[in-house]
Parts: sequence; C-alpha cells; structure tokens
Amino acid sequence: MAAPSGECINVFWHDGMLSHDTGKGVFDTGIDPGFLDVLENHPENCDRVRNMLSILKRGPISPYVSWHPGRPALFSELLSFHTQDYINELVEADKAGGKMVCSGTFLNPGSWDASLLAAGTTLSAMKHILDGHGKFSYSLVRPPGHHAQPTQADGYCFLNNAGLAVQLALNSGCRKVVVIDIDVHYGNGTAEGFYQSNKVLTISLHMNHGSWGPSHPQNGSIDELGEAEGFGYNLNIPLPNGTGDKGYTYAMTSLVVPAIQKFEPDMIVLVVGQDSSAFDPNGRQCLTMEGYREIGRIVRDLADRYSDGRLLIVQEGGYHITYSAYCLHATLEGVLNLPLPQLSDPIAYYPENEAFAVKVIESIKQYQKETIPFLKGT
Ligand SMILES: [Zn+2]
Repeated sequence: MAAPSGECINVFWHDGMLSHDTGKGVFDTGIDPGFLDVLENHPENCDRVRNMLSILKRGPISPYVSWHPGRPALFSELLSFHTQDYINELVEADKAGGKMVCSGTFLNPGSWDASLLAAGTTLSAMKHILDGHGKFSYSLVRPPGHHAQPTQADGYCFLNNAGLAVQLALNSGCRKVVVIDIDVHYGNGTAEGFYQSNKVLTISLHMNHGSWGPSHPQNGSIDELGEAEGFGYNLNIPLPNGTGDKGYTYAMTSLVVPAIQKFEPDMIVLVVGQDSSAFDPNGRQCLTMEGYREIGRIVRDLADRYSDGRLLIVQEGGYHITYSAYCLHATLEGVLNLPLPQLSDPIAYYPENEAFAVKVIESIKQYQKETIPFLKGT
C-alpha cells in the first residue's frame, strides 16, 4: 500500500541514541532525597522514543514510511553552529565520565555518542532532501536540541540538531529557511543561533515560561525579535496555558502562515515536540492528536506553496510515554495529507476553551504588524 499520491516520509534513525541514559529521580532532578519509595525515569528517556519508533513501524502510517540509517556528526560539522570552546567542554565532560551540565541536563557515559548521532542523523535527513532524494524527512532523534545554544547546553539539549541542519541548507545553496517550532518550550537555542540573520526566520509557539536560569537567559517574549540584520526575523508566540487545538490552529493561520507568505522560504523545518499535548508532564498547552494533525496539514500546505514541497521535521520534546507517539503519528498523517484519520485518539477528553488564546493571538498580531518591518500592512 502506498499513499494516495505514492508519497512517503523518509525517517532517519539510529539505535545508538538509546544509549543516552538520563537516570531516575524526582521527575527531572536526577535526585533522590529519600522521601519516596518509587522514583521515576527522567522525562527525556529511551521509552518515549522507543514508542515513536514502534508506532511508525507498526501503526497505520507504517506503509508510508521509508527507513534510513542515521550516523554520527563529524566535529567539523558541529562548528557550523557551535563554538569550538563549547564542543571542547562537552568532550572533556564525556572523558571525565560525565556531569550535570545544567539543571536537569545530564551528560552520562554514552550521552555524548548519542548526541553526535542525533546531530549527524538530522544532517543526513536534511541532506536527503537537499540531494533531491525525497521531499519529506523526519529525524527521530534524542537527546533533543532546540535549547542548545552556540555556547551552552540547556533543557536536556547538548547539540542543536535543527540548527545544524539549517546551516547545512544555507551552505548548500538555500537562500531562506524558516523554522517553525511547536515544542511547548521556547526554541531559544535555535533562535540564538540565527538571531542576527535575515536568512533564517525562526518562529516559536510555546508556553509563556520566561527565562529559567543561567542556561536559558532568553524570555521567549514577543519583543525578542532578533538583532541587526536579523531584526524582525525571530517571532515568538507565547501562548496561554490550555490554548488547545483551536487556539493553535488560529495561531498558525493568523500569525505563522502570513509571516511565511511574506518571507517566502525555500526550505521549511518543522521542529516538533509532543510536550504541547494535553497530557504531557512538562507542558500545559492541551493539543490533542487532531490539533497536531491540523498543524501537519498547514505546514505541508506551506511547503507545497513555498519550498517545492521540501520539509524537514526534527524531533524535540514530548514526555508522555504513550500519547507522544500517537501525537507524532497524527502530525505525520497531516504532513502526508492522508484523507481520513488513520489512528483514532484514545484519550482526547480535555475540554477546550480557546477564547482567551484568541485574544492573546490577536494582540500578538497587532504588535507584530506595528513593530516588524516585513510584516507591516499584513
Ligand atoms: Zn519541550
């Protein structure tokens, strides 16, 4: 069986990424203060990604998936986004047997090799598109990357997988790349890496969590717009808790789509985190499978219109062990434009009320129209 149009999604994966062991504790602390009989795995654990892997192998979408092997990144490749000093720090930490590099972020034995695989696998997924072998690639990777800044680790991330792929696209002749980040957290690392560039439009939809310490100095607020030539090319869309499917769809159609129409990218990168789902332990944005499916459809339509259908999807967060896999499945259904839902939602019982989210989105739109040169008059 093939997709109606014979399309498939090229999925890039390597088992070595399972060797990043983030340990146990009180949620993501890595600490056992001794008060509890039962600790839990760190949220960014193997099991979540094992389920994403298996649902793509055995779920209804499996006939539309073409599998490709991942590979480790070369050190020289890392320097397109990260500084030599920062990479040296990580190498030293690995040689020393590992360390907690920042809050909740553990480089343990095996973690560095997994990080190199996540980066290299994402580069391979982008290269597959650039070489004309396929329109859609999905890079199923961990550790995640979008908080990793050029000079520091943050929020479970060491290397910025998506950022490296964007650099590869630019170095291979793409003129303008857009990054749409729907992980529930601000994609601060990617934003930071391209903060002074007008060739990369970074858009992040996230909960309004603000700065969370020295590893994450950015606020993710609407006035962090980029600098110098890059002014106006970082669009932050902080959304209220409980925004839900209708609120996200409204943000996509009223903020993201018009900005991309003006920007006219020739490559699109969708950074996905299922931690925006209704049941994620790390977020409160309340998307369900249908919301993810609709985002997939909208982004697919943008790719058809602007980037000759070319779309790289990069995995980030998503910590509910079972629902994250289902939401990933739904997103890819949307990207493939499959006519009917292939997989029904087993747990979408969260009541939606998008009224407040719509008001917030309207005010962000007004602010952007008044402040951002390339959006004036939209
Ligand atoms: Zn996240």
